[in-house]
Amino acid sequence: MHTDPNCLFCKIVGGEIPSNKVYEDELCYAFYDIEPQAPVHFLVVPKEHICCAAKITADNSSIVAHCFEVIAKICAELGCESYRVVNNCGDQAGQTVKHLHFHVLSGRDMTWPPG
Ligand code: 5GP
Ligand code: ZN
Repeated sequence: MHTDPNCLFCKIVGGEIPSNKVYEDELCYAFYDIEPQAPVHFLVVPKEHICCAAKITADNSSIVAHCFEVIAKICAELGCESYRVVNNCGDQAGQTVKHLHFHVLSGRDMTWPPG
């Protein structure tokens, strides 16, 4: 599996940097965001280093489906009936960590459209 030794989330997945783990399996890792934007705010990341959503292809897209299965499972376990899943792709969209991740936010009213 491809990982990047200089990538923050690869280091979190590998345990080199500590995190508050929510869930883990052979394909993905979920942990609470260090700067929560809602009462519940965790991130789901593939263990494989994929830099952003723009690099999802027919060869690796099954991980995205898996991440969404995991999100549904975690949210059910946490009792989050309503939640928002966010992916920021690229600098202008606000992606600061270049390892594919899905934000899961819940526990407060949310506005649409986003800012
Ligand atoms: P992005 O801005 O790339 O969409 O999201 C990156 C997220 O990672 C941000 O919400 C930020 O708070 C979170 N984050 C950055 N560094 C760390 C860290 O060391 N630990 C954890 N748990 N979250 C982090
Ligand atoms: Zn990475």
